[in-house]
Amino acid sequence: MPESQHRLFFALWPADDLRARIERDTRAFVAQAGGRPIPAANFHITLVFIGDVPAAQIEAARIAAGAVTARSFSLSLDMLESWTGADVLVYSGEYPPPALGTLIDRLRISLLQQHFKLQRQTFKPHVTLVRKLPRRLPKQPLPRLEWPVNDFVLVESQAEESGSVYKVIGRWPLA
Ligand code: ATP
Ligand code: MG
Repeated sequence: MPESQHRLFFALWPADDLRARIERDTRAFVAQAGGRPIPAANFHITLVFIGDVPAAQIEAARIAAGAVTARSFSLSLDMLESWTGADVLVYSGEYPPPALGTLIDRLRISLLQQHFKLQRQTFKPHVTLVRKLPRRLPKQPLPRLEWPVNDFVLVESQAEESGSVYKVIGRWPLA
């Protein structure tokens, strides 16, 4: 019998008030975009995508996360962009803070030390708002949203008929 797989990723997870604000500030654009809007409950910023791994690896991912030391920081989101290829509409920051890159680097190194095989990562940090975007929208500034980042989470993604359902299965504070 093949071992069951768990689809994992590390992410920044907005507090409920921030989630509601992202939805409110982007609603009009999302409505005109077409495609498949992401439910507000699923808004997140992927830090590192792990992918499908056996259950035993969940503990290894937790150990990796627990070994990361990084500072809290503030993240500004201020730009609405369409990315072709991925066909997504995203809320992103023009100038991601260096502390975010440091957190991602440290997490990746820690995961490599736990023998995870990671894909190369080239994307800019973003919150995906729409998937299967049928056409590009012009890039445009949005009201600046300040996101105080005090922790990061490990998420398990489960494929349901209604779409992916995310479950936070671990949370680690930043200093
Ligand atoms: P759905 O697959 O239902 O459209 P989803 O893509 O959000 O939803 P997952 O495929 O489980 O669900 O992805 C979880 C998170 O990891 C998302 O932020 C997604 O963009 C990201 N992700 C998925 N695959 C990769 C990949 N190969 N490289 C980097 N990030 C990825
Ligand atoms: Mg996917």
